Amino acid sequence: MTNLSDAQLSQLKQGLHKRRLELQDEVRDDLARSGEQRYIDLAVKVGSIGDDSVASMLIDIDTVITDHAVHELREIEASLKRLSEMSFGDCADCGGEIGFARLLAYPTAQRCTPCQGRHEKTFHHDSTPSL
Ligand SMILES: [Zn+2]
Repeated sequence: MTNLSDAQLSQLKQGLHKRRLELQDEVRDDLARSGEQRYIDLAVKVGSIGDDSVASMLIDIDTVITDHAVHELREIEASLKRLSEMSFGDCADCGGEIGFARLLAYPTAQRCTPCQGRHEKTFHHDSTPSL
């Protein structure tokens, strides 16, 4: 469990909620602009959903229009879940502290800086086209 104080946790939580609202708006606008009726219907839903239904709504959205926003929304959902399970702030790889400063800059961070560096190196290596 992380050593973050209650005040720090609630600050991070507020940031996540704020970002989620921004992304919900972005997703809704993208869907509304798509010109496709099923996405426009979805946009109306996105505008009126409560906290609990965001995750299930995301499953319905499979369009590339909102891909990056949907991806980030999923990360925010996962972070809020970790917050409620009190596993927030622990590095997914080494179990150490991610640290408040890093979380403030990247509230959805799942790894401490050294582990993230290793992860990205590995990931980048794996995804390099072999052409
Ligand atoms: Zn780590």
